[in-house]
Amino acid sequence: MRYFLSLGSNLGRRRRNLARAVEALELAGIAIVKTSSLYETEPVGDKEQPWFLNLVVEASSSLDPEEMLDLIQTIERKLGRRSDERGGPRSIDIDILLAEEKVIQSERLTIPHPRLHQRNFVLQPLEEISAEAVQPLLGMKIKDLRTLSTDNSVVKKLRHPFRYRTPARRNAKTQAFL
Ligand code: AMP
Repeated sequence: MRYFLSLGSNLGRRRRNLARAVEALELAGIAIVKTSSLYETEPVGDKEQPWFLNLVVEASSSLDPEEMLDLIQTIERKLGRRSDERGGPRSIDIDILLAEEKVIQSERLTIPHPRLHQRNFVLQPLEEISAEAVQPLLGMKIKDLRTLSTDNSVVKKLRHPFRYRTPARRNAKTQAFL
């Protein structure tokens, strides 16, 4: 199944937290198909907290959405996210934005993510990697949702590329020591 995930961090070494999270997804067997640029973003809601770094990744996995949620929550815990971080600063936050064109409303899970179309920090990176993806409940493409968004919080695309270590690169590095 094709997923779009949103990742954000505004505590500690933000770039590193995001790289570790993408690496952990890959180590768990999730194929990372595409990653957006990094974006520096103004906090939405509680403004008295540091700015976030955000990105969106396209991923492919045989996990169903509930299993994907279990995995991202395990990764959040492993990367040191505490349960009291909700709404405030967090070392890592991972959300499922879209799971193909599935619509899910369970106690644990709402897909498409309910605030996807209201947040520039999600819409801009998502448009960068998949402008034609469809939000199935609204029946609209991401590029059109972005045009309609009334969110005026600041989202700055960073020029420095997002880097993380793929398993192949990790092996190459290990082998260099052998
Ligand atoms: P947050 O603190 O913002 O990461 O929210 C985490 C909570 O949102 C968890 O209890 C999840 O069960 C719930 N949740 C509902 N829908 C989603 C989704 N699409 N992606 C991630 N978490 C979700």
